[in-house]
Amino acid sequence: MESSISKTSDLITPLKQIFGYTQFRPNQQEIVETVLNKKDVFAVMPTGGGKSLCYQLPAYLLPGTCIVISPLISLMKDQVDAAKQNGLSVEFMNSSQTSSERSRVYGNIANRRLHLLYVAPERLASESFIALLKSIPLSFFAIDEAHCISEWGHDFRPDYLTLGNLHTWFPNTPIAAFTATATERVQKDILSKLDFKSPLLVRASFDRPNLFYHVKPKSKPDDQILAFIRNHSSEAGIIYRTTRDGVEKTAAFLKSKGIAALPYHAGLDQEIRARNQEAFNNDEILVIVATIAFGMGIDKSNVRYIIHGDLPKNIEGYYQETGRAGRDGDPAHCLLLFGKGDIPRLRYFIDQIPDSKERSHALKNLNRMIDFALHTICRRRQLLSYFGEQTGVPNCNACDICATPPDGIDVTIEAQKILSAIARTGEAFNKAHIAAIVAGKHTEEIRLHNHAGIKTFGAGKDKKESEWLDVIALLISRKIISVSSSQPDNLTLSDTAREILSGKRKVYDLEQEEEEQTQRKVVTKSRIPQAVDRGLFAQLRSVRMRLAKEGGVPPFIVCSDRTLHAMCDTLPRSKKGMLEIHGISNAKYDRYGKDFIECIETYLQNSPSTQRKAF
Ligand code: ADP
Ligand code: ZN
Repeated sequence: MESSISKTSDLITPLKQIFGYTQFRPNQQEIVETVLNKKDVFAVMPTGGGKSLCYQLPAYLLPGTCIVISPLISLMKDQVDAAKQNGLSVEFMNSSQTSSERSRVYGNIANRRLHLLYVAPERLASESFIALLKSIPLSFFAIDEAHCISEWGHDFRPDYLTLGNLHTWFPNTPIAAFTATATERVQKDILSKLDFKSPLLVRASFDRPNLFYHVKPKSKPDDQILAFIRNHSSEAGIIYRTTRDGVEKTAAFLKSKGIAALPYHAGLDQEIRARNQEAFNNDEILVIVATIAFGMGIDKSNVRYIIHGDLPKNIEGYYQETGRAGRDGDPAHCLLLFGKGDIPRLRYFIDQIPDSKERSHALKNLNRMIDFALHTICRRRQLLSYFGEQTGVPNCNACDICATPPDGIDVTIEAQKILSAIARTGEAFNKAHIAAIVAGKHTEEIRLHNHAGIKTFGAGKDKKESEWLDVIALLISRKIISVSSSQPDNLTLSDTAREILSGKRKVYDLEQEEEEQTQRKVVTKSRIPQAVDRGLFAQLRSVRMRLAKEGGVPPFIVCSDRTLHAMCDTLPRSKKGMLEIHGISNAKYDRYGKDFIECIETYLQNSPSTQRKAF
């Protein structure tokens, strides 16, 4: 069975039938094939990379039940609902269920009807549960959030340690383990704890090509956030603020301006928090203002933007938070409002860390985050380089730096004059001396070192020495040059400085932007191209909302925004046309196809002039 099924063409058919997709995302196919061949897999894939499909598809194709171990009870129901929508036979078992629900699930397990069973890790500590698993045919184990097994990871859960016994208890059942975060050290730890012998190792790229990264100077954050939301009024988004107070204030401000936004932070009553999260999940409100407490448990695929109203404390967090946008693969915007005023507060918290090693680590991470915001280098390239990845693309076209050159003042020539003076004097002089050379001053020291003879001497006579000192300060703040630590005063060049000197890179002074609300002219392309589609899109959305309510599931589980956009693009009015739509599986067509077709037909009848090619 395995060898015949692992041919590409054979997998595309069930991919379309069960999930409604026509193509695999990177690495999915290799993982699915390996699982079908009953081998262990360890895969690191970013959020939104499509991990669930990697085990759901083989679980459907293989005989026996796949046991999925997942730590997030809050997510389990949604995951199970989503899989059920696609016609998979799936159940979950966790502490949130009543005993009668649990015995119904037990019945289904014993009847050997399930493709997948989701369980929390603590279930595996129960001997009777293990005995039950031994009594039925199993296809494989899938471990979600596998980094939870490692003490080195940031989410260690002691319950996960039980998973180390799986290979002993079930020697013939392979394991597929997945995570979105694993350093080399954590990865090694996971592999040894799970007793993997020669698994397929997959480390997917951390690039999220549909995310647009954008950093903007922070002036009046609430106004800036409001302006952004008004430009994206029909889209769902998350606003992150550092403090609970900041969350409350921004949420209240937005409310006062007519935006239905709700707050979310750890200081809120558990019930209110859950309710607000649900309202966001169910599209009842489009905007949630939150601290980073909001995140785990957000599986919503149509989050169209993330705004960071304050500077995150490290790149890892920033990446995870922005990663919650655009899981459906459609374009999404990540806006960071950056003001240097945020730095002291973060520094203050770092200073409170008692352990000196940890403190310096946190400081290093913060500096990396500041560099990310300050440097005029492709944001995507910076993020990927943080994860040890290189991008071969010189211009990603989907960050503020690549899409529009920064509109601060180009100070490349000034920078080159300073850098050249530093280079020509052997990186052995302080800033006063360098400024004097460029300004062409005949100081005592310049005479002493004979520096009036070098080429850069007087190259910047048009400016005062103090202005050249400003340029030097800018270059230091960008880490283009640094003040030597051994010779306290001397200026030294970085690799970036050499690139600027050779004309490969430019320098912009963005400083004055910070004072004024000079808007950077970056506009995200709206996914809804025309007015006609916008009308239809709104109607399809309300059909989706009705279907979701009827089915007792969140709207994004009925289908994603991307699916609705595809309907707007091709206006399918037949079963065949509908089945060609991204995300429409056979089961989804059976359940919802007619309602959507009816909606499209009514729309076209009411506005015949907009008839276009229709399938
Ligand atoms: P992860 O668990 O890796 O964060 P998910 O499994 O939740 O990601 O998948 C993210 C989104 O991508 C889901 O909406 C899923 O349906 C969609 N998806 C997964 N695989 C594909 C594919 N091959 N083509 C299109 N969409 C996909
Ligand atoms: Zn870029």
